[in-house]
Amino acid sequence: MDTVRLSGKVAIITGGGQGIGFGIAQRFASEGATIVIAQRSLEKADASTAQLRAAGGEACAIRADVTDPGQVDSLVRATLDRYGRLDILVNNAGRAGGNGPVLEIEFAAWRSVIDTNLTGVFLCSQAAARVMVAQSVRGRILNIGSLNCFSAQKNAAAYVASKGGVLMLTKALAVDLAPYGILVNCVAPGSILVERNSPALTAEPLKTSLSKAIPLGGPGSVDHVAAAAAFLASGESEFITGAALIIDGGYLSYARIE
Ligand code: NDP
Repeated sequence: MDTVRLSGKVAIITGGGQGIGFGIAQRFASEGATIVIAQRSLEKADASTAQLRAAGGEACAIRADVTDPGQVDSLVRATLDRYGRLDILVNNAGRAGGNGPVLEIEFAAWRSVIDTNLTGVFLCSQAAARVMVAQSVRGRILNIGSLNCFSAQKNAAAYVASKGGVLMLTKALAVDLAPYGILVNCVAPGSILVERNSPALTAEPLKTSLSKAIPLGGPGSVDHVAAAAAFLASGESEFITGAALIIDGGYLSYARIE
């Protein structure tokens, strides 16, 4: 990596032990940031932080459930105790679930998806922003949305509603935190290959249907998302707030009527 834009910055990445979150952690670390990976499973997070340290970075793992206000406060406090500051929060933790026809979604499943994907973003952003304001840090908050910020899918009402909420919460946070110089943006990935979904996305019939639906030829990689996140976390995006950057290989732009 020739560009080192995040030197001296401390970043919390929720759900950063795997998938897109780990891709962002690796990219931020390679650009000089100190990384705090926060998720429920410490085993996975510890293995990932060990990988970051082996590559020459500074990183630690802190167990935290983003749906629990007490655990979120402890996460931010532990970050300050260890590193003394907080510059960047990436709200990446998310879950699918609640899938199925809207007539059949159980309330518990609905609530779990909304709590993780939307309330978790609120709790972490509020806790992080309070610290940034107290420390006069002109920080960055990045929310990982989805194409479902813009467009619905069948049998996914809870997920779609949560990601639609993430987009508008991004804008609300951007407006409220602008006076403090804290920039808040959303990265909205399309189909991105991660361990969890790659067996399905690389097998038929999905493989062929994705290659036809995505103008750039198929699913993206975590590196594609991480590059956009690093730009939005860096000093190169100083007049961008409340924005959503779509990373979907052209999927949403293509009406698919031939
Ligand atoms: P993964 O399932 O690979 O990773 C999800 C991460 O979130 C895990 O590290 C998990 O850790 C963490 N997490 C889940 N619930 C909680 C919680 N309550 N508290 C703290 N951490 C939690 O997902 P992806 O990498 O695929 O997705 C990451 C983000 O990107 C999500 O927000 C997802 O909606 C979004 N996205 C992904 C796309 C894709 O194609 N991959 C497309 C569009 C959006 P643990 O279980 O240990 O807590």
